[in-house]
Amino acid sequence: MAESSLAPVPRGSAPLPEWIRVRPPRGAAYPDVKGILGELRLGTVCREARCPNLPECWSAGAATLMLLGTDCTRRCTFCAVTTHWPRGAVDRTEPERVAEAVRRWGLRYVVLTQVCRDDLDDGGASVMAETVRRIRTASPSTLVELLVGDLGGREASLRAVLDSAPDVLAHNLETVRSLSAEVRDPRAGYDRSLAVLRAARRLGPEELVTKSSVMLGLGETDPELDAALRDLRDAGVDLLTLGQYLRPSSSHRPVHRYVTPEEFGRWEARAGTLGFSATAAGPLVRSSYRAEELYRAARTDRGG
Ligand code: SF4
Repeated sequence: MAESSLAPVPRGSAPLPEWIRVRPPRGAAYPDVKGILGELRLGTVCREARCPNLPECWSAGAATLMLLGTDCTRRCTFCAVTTHWPRGAVDRTEPERVAEAVRRWGLRYVVLTQVCRDDLDDGGASVMAETVRRIRTASPSTLVELLVGDLGGREASLRAVLDSAPDVLAHNLETVRSLSAEVRDPRAGYDRSLAVLRAARRLGPEELVTKSSVMLGLGETDPELDAALRDLRDAGVDLLTLGQYLRPSSSHRPVHRYVTPEEFGRWEARAGTLGFSATAAGPLVRSSYRAEELYRAARTDRGG
Protein backbone atom coordinates (compact mmCIF):
# COMPACT_ATOMS: atom_id res chain seq x y z
CA MET A 1 0.00 0.00 0.00
CA ALA A 2 0.63 3.02 0.98
CA GLU A 3 0.86 4.89 3.89
CA SER A 4 1.88 8.02 5.36
CA SER A 5 -0.83 7.26 7.86
CA LEU A 6 1.80 4.70 8.73
CA ALA A 7 4.23 7.17 10.18
CA PRO A 8 4.57 6.10 13.77
CA VAL A 9 5.57 7.23 17.24
CA PRO A 10 9.35 7.58 17.27
CA ARG A 11 11.36 5.37 19.57
CA GLY A 12 14.82 5.82 21.01
CA SER A 13 15.70 8.75 18.79
CA ALA A 14 16.61 12.40 19.28
CA PRO A 15 14.37 14.55 21.50
CA LEU A 16 11.18 15.64 19.81
CA PRO A 17 10.28 19.28 19.35
CA GLU A 18 7.58 20.51 21.70
CA TRP A 19 4.94 20.67 18.95
CA ILE A 20 4.95 16.88 18.55
CA ARG A 21 3.00 15.53 21.46
CA VAL A 22 1.22 12.20 21.79
CA ARG A 23 -2.06 12.54 23.60
CA PRO A 24 -2.94 10.03 26.32
CA PRO A 25 -5.97 7.72 25.86
CA ARG A 26 -9.27 9.14 26.98
CA GLY A 27 -12.98 8.83 26.28
CA ALA A 28 -15.50 6.06 26.60
CA ALA A 29 -15.31 4.73 23.04
CA TYR A 30 -11.67 3.63 23.32
CA PRO A 31 -12.34 0.22 24.92
CA ASP A 32 -15.25 -0.42 22.51
CA VAL A 33 -13.01 -0.01 19.48
CA LYS A 34 -10.40 -2.28 21.04
CA GLY A 35 -12.96 -4.90 22.06
CA ILE A 36 -14.63 -5.12 18.65
CA LEU A 37 -11.27 -5.28 16.87
CA GLY A 38 -10.15 -8.12 19.13
CA GLU A 39 -13.40 -10.04 18.85
CA LEU A 40 -13.48 -9.78 15.05
CA ARG A 41 -9.72 -10.36 14.66
CA LEU A 42 -9.12 -7.17 12.69
CA GLY A 43 -5.99 -5.10 12.28
CA THR A 44 -5.73 -1.34 12.20
CA VAL A 45 -3.13 0.89 10.68
CA CYS A 46 -3.42 2.85 13.89
CA ARG A 47 -1.83 0.05 15.90
CA GLU A 48 0.37 -1.71 13.34
CA ALA A 49 1.98 1.57 12.35
CA ARG A 50 2.05 2.99 15.90
CA CYS A 51 0.19 6.08 14.75
CA PRO A 52 0.56 9.02 17.15
CA ASN A 53 -3.14 9.92 16.80
CA LEU A 54 -4.40 6.52 17.94
CA PRO A 55 -5.68 7.63 21.37
CA GLU A 56 -7.49 10.65 19.91
CA CYS A 57 -9.09 8.71 17.05
CA TRP A 58 -10.07 5.63 19.05
CA SER A 59 -11.54 7.83 21.75
CA ALA A 60 -13.76 9.30 19.04
CA GLY A 61 -14.73 5.81 17.83
CA ALA A 62 -12.74 6.09 14.58
CA ALA A 63 -10.19 3.59 13.37
CA THR A 64 -8.55 2.89 10.02
CA LEU A 65 -8.99 -0.77 9.24
CA MET A 66 -6.39 -2.81 7.39
CA LEU A 67 -7.47 -5.17 4.65
CA LEU A 68 -5.74 -8.32 3.42
CA GLY A 69 -4.15 -9.11 6.76
CA THR A 70 -1.58 -7.12 8.68
CA ASP A 71 1.67 -8.13 6.94
CA CYS A 72 2.94 -6.45 3.80
CA THR A 73 4.94 -7.97 0.94
CA ARG A 74 6.95 -4.75 0.63
CA ARG A 75 9.53 -3.06 2.80
CA CYS A 76 9.49 0.73 2.74
CA THR A 77 12.23 2.37 4.79
CA PHE A 78 9.79 4.52 6.79
CA CYS A 79 7.16 1.93 7.58
CA ALA A 80 6.58 -0.11 10.73
CA VAL A 81 4.37 -2.77 9.16
CA THR A 82 5.85 -6.30 9.24
CA THR A 83 7.17 -7.64 5.93
CA HIS A 84 6.07 -11.15 4.98
CA TRP A 85 5.33 -13.14 1.81
CA PRO A 86 2.07 -15.02 2.53
CA ARG A 87 2.14 -17.02 -0.74
CA GLY A 88 -1.35 -16.12 -1.84
CA ALA A 89 -3.05 -16.86 1.48
CA VAL A 90 -6.25 -14.83 1.91
CA ASP A 91 -8.80 -15.02 4.69
CA ARG A 92 -12.11 -14.92 2.80
CA THR A 93 -14.01 -14.11 6.00
CA GLU A 94 -12.27 -10.76 6.34
CA PRO A 95 -14.74 -8.67 4.24
CA GLU A 96 -17.65 -9.84 6.38
CA ARG A 97 -15.76 -9.22 9.62
CA VAL A 98 -14.83 -5.71 8.50
CA ALA A 99 -18.44 -4.96 7.55
CA GLU A 100 -19.60 -6.24 10.92
CA ALA A 101 -17.14 -3.98 12.76
CA VAL A 102 -18.33 -0.95 10.79
CA ARG A 103 -21.94 -1.85 11.52
CA ARG A 104 -21.32 -2.28 15.25
CA TRP A 105 -19.47 1.01 15.51
CA GLY A 106 -22.24 2.75 13.61
CA LEU A 107 -19.65 4.75 11.66
CA ARG A 108 -20.73 7.52 9.32
CA TYR A 109 -17.37 7.36 7.61
CA VAL A 110 -14.81 4.60 7.49
CA VAL A 111 -11.28 4.50 6.13
CA LEU A 112 -10.02 1.19 4.81
CA THR A 113 -6.44 0.62 3.78
CA GLN A 114 -4.50 -2.33 2.49
CA VAL A 115 -1.15 -3.92 2.96
CA CYS A 116 0.54 -4.50 -0.40
CA ARG A 117 -0.05 -8.02 -1.64
CA ASP A 118 2.36 -8.60 -4.50
CA ASP A 119 1.80 -12.33 -3.97
CA LEU A 120 -1.76 -12.04 -5.35
CA ASP A 121 -2.44 -11.76 -9.09
CA ASP A 122 -4.87 -8.87 -8.60
CA GLY A 123 -2.97 -7.27 -5.70
CA GLY A 124 -5.98 -7.98 -3.46
CA ALA A 125 -8.44 -5.93 -5.53
CA SER A 126 -11.24 -8.52 -5.38
CA VAL A 127 -11.08 -8.73 -1.58
CA MET A 128 -11.15 -4.95 -1.22
CA ALA A 129 -14.07 -4.65 -3.62
CA GLU A 130 -16.00 -7.31 -1.74
CA THR A 131 -15.34 -5.52 1.54
CA VAL A 132 -16.75 -2.25 0.21
CA ARG A 133 -19.84 -4.07 -1.10
CA ARG A 134 -20.44 -5.80 2.21
CA ILE A 135 -20.18 -2.50 4.05
CA ARG A 136 -22.73 -1.03 1.62
CA THR A 137 -25.11 -3.86 2.50
CA ALA A 138 -24.53 -3.83 6.26
CA SER A 139 -24.35 -0.03 6.67
CA PRO A 140 -25.86 1.64 3.60
CA SER A 141 -25.32 5.19 4.81
CA THR A 142 -21.64 4.79 5.74
CA LEU A 143 -19.22 6.67 3.51
CA VAL A 144 -16.18 4.62 2.48
CA GLU A 145 -12.67 5.86 1.85
CA LEU A 146 -10.36 3.26 0.34
CA LEU A 147 -6.61 3.80 0.50
CA VAL A 148 -4.99 1.46 -1.98
CA GLY A 149 -1.46 0.56 -2.97
CA ASP A 150 -0.35 0.71 -6.58
CA LEU A 151 -1.87 -2.74 -7.28
CA GLY A 152 1.26 -3.59 -9.26
CA GLY A 153 0.25 -0.91 -11.76
CA ARG A 154 -2.53 -3.16 -13.11
CA GLU A 155 -5.40 -1.09 -14.43
CA ALA A 156 -7.78 -4.07 -14.34
CA SER A 157 -7.24 -4.32 -10.58
CA LEU A 158 -7.90 -0.64 -10.10
CA ARG A 159 -11.02 -0.92 -12.20
CA ALA A 160 -12.26 -3.81 -10.04
CA VAL A 161 -11.79 -1.71 -6.93
CA LEU A 162 -13.55 1.30 -8.48
CA ASP A 163 -16.47 -0.90 -9.53
CA SER A 164 -17.30 -1.35 -5.86
CA ALA A 165 -17.91 2.43 -5.76
CA PRO A 166 -15.90 3.77 -2.82
CA ASP A 167 -16.66 7.42 -2.09
CA VAL A 168 -12.96 8.29 -1.91
CA LEU A 169 -10.09 6.53 -3.67
CA ALA A 170 -6.79 7.39 -2.05
CA HIS A 171 -3.25 6.47 -2.99
CA ASN A 172 -0.24 7.99 -1.31
CA LEU A 173 2.65 9.55 -3.18
CA GLU A 174 4.55 9.48 0.14
CA THR A 175 7.49 11.67 -0.89
CA VAL A 176 9.07 13.81 -3.60
CA ARG A 177 10.47 12.40 -6.83
CA SER A 178 14.16 12.55 -5.86
CA LEU A 179 13.63 10.56 -2.63
CA SER A 180 11.07 8.05 -3.83
CA ALA A 181 13.53 5.29 -4.78
CA GLU A 182 15.38 5.35 -1.47
CA VAL A 183 12.35 5.90 0.78
CA ARG A 184 9.89 3.44 -0.75
CA ASP A 185 10.10 -0.22 -1.64
CA PRO A 186 11.77 -0.74 -5.06
CA ARG A 187 8.46 -2.01 -6.48
CA ALA A 188 6.81 1.35 -5.76
CA GLY A 189 7.54 4.44 -7.81
CA TYR A 190 6.76 8.14 -8.09
CA ASP A 191 5.47 7.93 -11.65
CA ARG A 192 3.57 4.73 -10.99
CA SER A 193 1.76 6.38 -8.08
CA LEU A 194 0.83 9.37 -10.21
CA ALA A 195 -0.40 6.95 -12.87
CA VAL A 196 -2.65 5.21 -10.30
CA LEU A 197 -4.19 8.53 -9.30
CA ARG A 198 -4.61 9.65 -12.89
CA ALA A 199 -6.24 6.33 -13.81
CA ALA A 200 -8.61 6.56 -10.84
CA ARG A 201 -9.76 9.94 -12.08
CA ARG A 202 -10.16 8.62 -15.62
CA LEU A 203 -11.82 5.29 -14.80
CA GLY A 204 -13.91 6.30 -11.79
CA PRO A 205 -17.32 7.97 -11.85
CA GLU A 206 -17.46 11.74 -11.95
CA GLU A 207 -18.43 11.97 -8.29
CA LEU A 208 -15.36 9.98 -7.16
CA VAL A 209 -13.10 12.00 -4.86
CA THR A 210 -9.37 11.23 -5.06
CA LYS A 211 -6.82 11.85 -2.37
CA SER A 212 -3.10 11.56 -1.68
CA SER A 213 -0.58 12.13 1.06
CA VAL A 214 3.03 13.24 1.34
CA MET A 215 5.38 13.01 4.33
CA LEU A 216 7.63 15.95 5.18
CA GLY A 217 10.97 15.89 6.97
CA LEU A 218 12.55 13.14 4.87
CA GLY A 219 15.07 15.46 3.21
CA GLU A 220 12.91 17.04 0.51
CA THR A 221 13.57 20.61 -0.61
CA ASP A 222 10.84 23.22 -0.92
CA PRO A 223 10.97 23.29 -4.75
CA GLU A 224 10.76 19.48 -4.83
CA LEU A 225 7.74 19.48 -2.55
CA ASP A 226 6.08 22.19 -4.60
CA ALA A 227 6.66 20.10 -7.74
CA ALA A 228 5.10 17.05 -6.04
CA LEU A 229 2.00 19.05 -5.13
CA ARG A 230 1.71 20.34 -8.68
CA ASP A 231 2.11 16.78 -10.02
CA LEU A 232 -0.73 15.63 -7.75
CA ARG A 233 -2.97 18.42 -8.97
CA ASP A 234 -2.09 17.58 -12.57
CA ALA A 235 -3.24 14.03 -11.80
CA GLY A 236 -6.60 15.46 -10.76
CA VAL A 237 -6.22 14.79 -7.02
CA ASP A 238 -8.86 16.56 -4.91
CA LEU A 239 -7.67 16.09 -1.34
CA LEU A 240 -4.22 16.26 0.22
CA THR A 241 -2.69 15.48 3.59
CA LEU A 242 0.80 16.54 4.66
CA GLY A 243 2.39 15.25 7.86
CA GLN A 244 5.75 14.92 9.60
CA TYR A 245 7.71 11.71 9.07
CA LEU A 246 8.44 10.09 12.43
CA ARG A 247 10.93 7.25 12.72
CA PRO A 248 9.40 3.97 13.95
CA SER A 249 12.68 2.53 15.27
CA SER A 250 16.42 2.94 14.96
CA SER A 251 16.42 0.49 12.03
CA HIS A 252 14.18 2.80 10.00
CA ARG A 253 15.17 5.84 7.99
CA PRO A 254 16.19 8.75 10.25
CA VAL A 255 14.20 11.96 10.39
CA HIS A 256 16.02 14.59 8.33
CA ARG A 257 14.34 17.48 10.13
CA TYR A 258 11.22 18.47 12.03
CA VAL A 259 9.01 20.79 10.05
CA THR A 260 7.40 23.54 12.14
CA PRO A 261 3.63 24.02 12.41
CA GLU A 262 4.08 27.40 10.68
CA GLU A 263 5.70 25.73 7.67
CA PHE A 264 2.86 23.23 7.51
CA GLY A 265 0.46 26.16 7.55
CA ARG A 266 2.25 27.72 4.59
CA TRP A 267 2.08 24.45 2.63
CA GLU A 268 -1.62 24.13 3.38
CA ALA A 269 -2.14 27.62 1.96
CA ARG A 270 -0.01 26.78 -1.07
CA ALA A 271 -2.11 23.64 -1.70
CA GLY A 272 -5.20 25.83 -1.64
CA THR A 273 -3.78 28.10 -4.34
CA LEU A 274 -2.92 25.05 -6.45
CA GLY A 275 -6.57 24.05 -6.40
CA PHE A 276 -6.90 21.16 -3.94
CA SER A 277 -10.44 21.11 -2.56
CA ALA A 278 -9.11 20.65 0.97
CA THR A 279 -5.78 19.94 2.67
CA ALA A 280 -4.92 18.80 6.17
CA ALA A 281 -1.33 19.72 7.03
CA GLY A 282 0.42 19.48 10.39
CA PRO A 283 3.10 17.58 12.31
CA LEU A 284 0.76 14.78 13.42
CA VAL A 285 -1.50 14.72 10.37
CA ARG A 286 -1.79 11.27 8.79
CA SER A 287 -3.61 10.30 5.61
CA SER A 288 -6.86 9.45 7.37
CA TYR A 289 -6.82 12.51 9.65
CA ARG A 290 -10.11 14.48 9.54
CA ALA A 291 -11.05 12.25 6.62
CA GLU A 292 -14.79 12.92 6.68
CA GLU A 293 -14.29 16.67 6.96
CA LEU A 294 -11.98 16.69 3.94
CA TYR A 295 -14.39 14.56 1.94
CA ARG A 296 -17.28 16.93 2.65
CA ALA A 297 -15.14 19.88 1.57
CA ALA A 298 -14.51 18.15 -1.77
CA ARG A 299 -18.22 17.54 -2.24
CA THR A 300 -19.01 21.16 -1.46
CA ASP A 301 -16.29 22.26 -3.87
CA ARG A 302 -18.09 20.35 -6.61
CA GLY A 303 -21.41 21.82 -5.64
CA GLY A 304 -22.60 18.46 -4.29
S1 SF4 B 1 3.78 -0.74 0.96
FE1 SF4 B 1 5.36 0.19 2.18
S2 SF4 B 1 4.26 1.78 3.36
FE2 SF4 B 1 2.70 0.37 2.59
S3 SF4 B 1 2.41 -1.11 4.26
FE3 SF4 B 1 3.91 -2.00 2.83
S4 SF4 B 1 5.89 -1.42 3.68
FE4 SF4 B 1 4.35 -0.10 4.65
